[in-house]
Amino acid sequence: MNTDEFRRTGHELIEWIATYRERMESLPVMSPVAPGDVARQLPTEPPMKGAGLDHIVQDLERIVLPGITHWNHPGFFAYFPSNSDLASVLGDLACAGLGAQGMSWQTSPAATEVEDVVMDWLRQMLGLPETFTGVIQDSASSANFCALLCARERSTAFGQTRGGMQWEEEPCVVYASSQAHSSIPKGALLAGFGKEHLRLIETDENHALRVDLLEAAIQADLSAGRVPCAVVAAVGTTATTALDDVRGIADLAAEYGLWLHVDAALAGTAMVLPECRWMWEGSEAADSIVMNPHKWMGVGFDCSAYFVRDPEHLIRVMSTNPSYLRTAQDGEVRNLRDWGIPLGRRFRALKLWFQLQDLGVEGLQRRIRRDLDNAQWLREQVAATPEWELLAPVPLQTLCLRHVPAELAGDEVALAAHNLAIVERINRAGHCYLTPAVLKGQQMIRVSIGSTPTEKRHVEGLWQELQLQAVASLQGPVASSA
Ligand SMILES: *Cc1c(COP(=O)(O)O)cnc(C)c1O
Repeated sequence: MNTDEFRRTGHELIEWIATYRERMESLPVMSPVAPGDVARQLPTEPPMKGAGLDHIVQDLERIVLPGITHWNHPGFFAYFPSNSDLASVLGDLACAGLGAQGMSWQTSPAATEVEDVVMDWLRQMLGLPETFTGVIQDSASSANFCALLCARERSTAFGQTRGGMQWEEEPCVVYASSQAHSSIPKGALLAGFGKEHLRLIETDENHALRVDLLEAAIQADLSAGRVPCAVVAAVGTTATTALDDVRGIADLAAEYGLWLHVDAALAGTAMVLPECRWMWEGSEAADSIVMNPHKWMGVGFDCSAYFVRDPEHLIRVMSTNPSYLRTAQDGEVRNLRDWGIPLGRRFRALKLWFQLQDLGVEGLQRRIRRDLDNAQWLREQVAATPEWELLAPVPLQTLCLRHVPAELAGDEVALAAHNLAIVERINRAGHCYLTPAVLKGQQMIRVSIGSTPTEKRHVEGLWQELQLQAVASLQGPVASSA
């Protein structure tokens, strides 16, 4: 492709993306395709002769678009908000266009220095003290894994330089709540702790980790000769956005010498609001913190912000430093390849920079407050309406609710089927998209608010639809297709 073709097709593609965003609301939020529908439309063998990209926009429209679930749709209430705001799309485009590797300072100094600066902006925006230094990781899952590796190496006094976990006489133990994200158990297993040494502590009626049970577990491990190594505090669990008592957990971590990692992947964005910062009080004592600009902050996936108190420790755990990667500036600059697992790094700071430059702190604050207000509005409707109930507090933008019609009350199996049917009807109708989930044995309808274009009227529309489909689902089977 030459630059003339790039210009022509590139302008066409930008036009297509802009039009896609404008007509988004008329598209069904959840992709209606069946397995194989997309793959079937592509040739099974690679093109032998290059044919250029003249038809690529039509192909996107015809083959790809039907297989897209529209995460930036105003009716997207599933999973978690994960938007790709247009400013961040341009940042990603600039990143691709520059095509630079940012593994070392020298491989593209701007990639490191822009990241340094915007990560410090982000630190300030979140109200974190200067004792934290940030680095971009691909995902919170990776950041959680890094945190557990760093904890392991601290507890074992760098066992990796000897026999690793295989030589440890006393096993190291990791603690988190039973509501912790699946990447925590996964990270603990991959880091070699072993399932036997992973404690998923029970939660209280608000689904937050029980600090009393945590302390009891730590003491039991100590008296059995095991080494309490790391504890993960969740600020905003995935299912219900429950808030662990970070202060209480931090006190125990300090007392027993555990690594404290705070997982605020989704909820971290709310800390841009000073009035929300009580939610993670105690985090200033953490060894590491993760929050995802690629969730509620409108920065396109992937962009996860990992903050650490002791960068030297992180570098010691992650650094490889073979001779061909050494440069003259090594003592003076950050080489971000040593701040995480992959060697190669894209210039992801661009999309974060573009987004913050475009919105400003105040623009972002306005949007988060809008989403919090919308969530409280819906909470009030649910609380005030007979036969609807909330299964968890609503500190942020996620609601866990269900419909309990009098005729089904007490019958958990029938209630589960009924609430699943409501979700299925709504998803098929196409205006909104919800993901159901099970919370401590109860089937719930989970409403996650915070898609960039979602305004109050869309939340009002969802509430109407919930009530309508609740009645309809009591009356008959699910319609076969929208
Ligand atoms: C979403 C989420 C994660 C995982 O985030 P990825 O960036 O997709 O890996 C981890 N922890 C919590 C609390 C989350 O909400």
